[in-house]
Amino acid sequence: QVFGYRDFSQQAKWDKSFMAVPDAALAGQHLKTLTSAPHWASSPEDYATAVYVADKFKAAGLETQIVPYKVLLNKPVKIIVEAFDADGKKIMSGPTPEHVDPNKFGGDPFQDDPRILPAFNGSSPSGDVTAEVIYANYGTLADFQQLTKLGVSVKGKIVLVRYGENFRGIKTYIAQQYGAVGVLIYSDPADDGFFRGDMYPRGPYRPETGVQRGSIQFLPIYPGDPTTPGVASTLDLPDSKRIPVDKLENNQPSIPTNPLSYHDAAPILKALGGAESPRDWQGALPFTYHLGAGGTHGTPPKITVHMHLDQDIALRTIWDVEGRIPGTDNSDDWVVAGNHRDAWVYGAVDPNSGTAAMLETVHGLGDLLKQGWKPQRTIVICSWDAEEEGLIGSTEWAEQHEKVLAHAVAYFNTDVGVAGPNFDAAAVPSLKQFVREVTKEVASPKGGTVYDQWKADQAAPPPTRRTRRPTEATDSDVHIGTLGSGSDYTPFIQHLGVPSTDIGSEGPYGVYHSVFDNYNWFTKFADPTFVYEQQQARVFGLEILHMADADVLPYDYQLYGKEIVGYLEAAQKQATTKNFTLDFAPALAAANRFAAAGTAIRATQSTPPANPTTLNQSLRNAEGALLNPEGLPKRSWYKHTIYAPGEFTGYAAVVIPGVNEGIDAPDAPRAQSQLAALTAALNRSATILENANKEAAK
Ligand code: GLU
Ligand code: ZN
Ligand code: ZN
Repeated sequence: QVFGYRDFSQQAKWDKSFMAVPDAALAGQHLKTLTSAPHWASSPEDYATAVYVADKFKAAGLETQIVPYKVLLNKPVKIIVEAFDADGKKIMSGPTPEHVDPNKFGGDPFQDDPRILPAFNGSSPSGDVTAEVIYANYGTLADFQQLTKLGVSVKGKIVLVRYGENFRGIKTYIAQQYGAVGVLIYSDPADDGFFRGDMYPRGPYRPETGVQRGSIQFLPIYPGDPTTPGVASTLDLPDSKRIPVDKLENNQPSIPTNPLSYHDAAPILKALGGAESPRDWQGALPFTYHLGAGGTHGTPPKITVHMHLDQDIALRTIWDVEGRIPGTDNSDDWVVAGNHRDAWVYGAVDPNSGTAAMLETVHGLGDLLKQGWKPQRTIVICSWDAEEEGLIGSTEWAEQHEKVLAHAVAYFNTDVGVAGPNFDAAAVPSLKQFVREVTKEVASPKGGTVYDQWKADQAAPPPTRRTRRPTEATDSDVHIGTLGSGSDYTPFIQHLGVPSTDIGSEGPYGVYHSVFDNYNWFTKFADPTFVYEQQQARVFGLEILHMADADVLPYDYQLYGKEIVGYLEAAQKQATTKNFTLDFAPALAAANRFAAAGTAIRATQSTPPANPTTLNQSLRNAEGALLNPEGLPKRSWYKHTIYAPGEFTGYAAVVIPGVNEGIDAPDAPRAQSQLAALTAALNRSATILENANKEAAK
């Protein structure tokens, strides 16, 4: 028996009919078409992909529209990064275009397209700076603190950092606070290059000239169009309702930042003098890394970098695609599912492996419609634009539909749908068991079910891009990650409280955000026969089907409660080690009350009343009650009291964020008042569950 269903047998039949449809070869064709040209958000090629997706939605019988927004995007006009030694001799002249030898290992058929933009960071301002360089490892808060301890200041300097550990925008966020005048972010071969395995095109890892583009907006403050936090940037929104471009300091960096390949970073790193870097700051390049200052060997040789970035920063039109299947219940209880479509260049893995699979999911839903199936709840499938620049298409859409989404029963995200064969997921705890259940129904190309393989893989090495990182086990089952940020679920769960999941298959993926994330790489290293595309289409589709048709919403508040109690106990320990005197008792009592109510309502969900409408409304409202309308300190757009992207991590979640960030700051009064807000939210939610239980018992 499947949780949420009185009788699963009819659903099992629909599931079976559905799963017969998603087609591996068709997914391959979608992927080939979608990635035939670079399709950066707002470009004509991006619009062409919107039309392609809209046509497939229509063909499947979805009520389809292309939904435009006007949003702030920077486009590089001229990018110069060059380095000089103490004698003024040029030691590097970049950026070097991404290129691999066409005569070795098959070369790369996509690298010479004239539409490829120079590698740049979304949200970087223009600037023309010349300054000495300091190496700052991953550019985490701990790294900058360590530099200070070593007596090295980055004030007035250009900071050279490597990709990894945190969201790249955080590197600039911190560097800027420490007084740096520019940031260069490079990909060290230790993290996703030859130190991991063979480089493209011989293997899947980042080649010498490969660059990771990416947004550096201050995502943990707010995502979306920088000029309209909390408001949808529709075409008719008057400019007077937007924040002027020169007043965007909360979200947009003020110091120029650009990505580099290790080909261009190596000459700088090699020439840097000063103190030896801490041993664990050493990457995989064949020389000892130095900091550029400090140390006991006299004045370090002066290495200067000149960065000249000329960005065209303007309001540009982007296009989401929305397809609806109306539900028979005539309610606002939407099931929303989505994936972004825009790419930094070709985006075969990120994001179009997700789009190709989603189109086969839609193909399957279309066939069910023809067979007479009608979902109980309305299904809304979305193809987001401008995710790469800061989750813009999804955030604007979510802000536009804020009122209705207060009732939406789920948001199912996929982004990197297939980078390899290892299925993984992140989810709000109430949906963890739900995700496990659907993976038990889908066959894996490796034999057994997706669930079996997932369980077997959990000891596998961590993928290079860790957005779905597993968390501590709260139960003995397959671990499911915590939703932090870096993809389109953020506006749904963290701004609006829509229960969300994020799924996809991982693998060795060293070409993230580079020219080489293309159809050639994908068919060589990710999924040559598209069977994982098919698997992804099926799992994604079952999530939608089950949520649309369940009798009782299958949220597991028992596990949710357990996890929250665990978060509080961990925070309490952390506070004790910092000698904070915080009163955790009311919050712990509220969390235990919430957990007990969760356990009680699970029983009711298993034997639901004849008409479960009110029970379902309460189940949904219990998640909504975890929002604090005031939002988090310093970042009020983030309303959820249990999950947010960390202010200093970006990708990785911080749980019970108000409390934990108050403790970390350290700011005891802030932590105490955030404990009060959390307590209130947990009590609100527990009351809803308790009342629903009483009501159902009548
Ligand atoms: N997936 C994007 C990235 O990791 C998200 C960008 C953003 O949230 O600003 O770069
Ligand atoms: Zn993506
Ligand atoms: Zn991306």
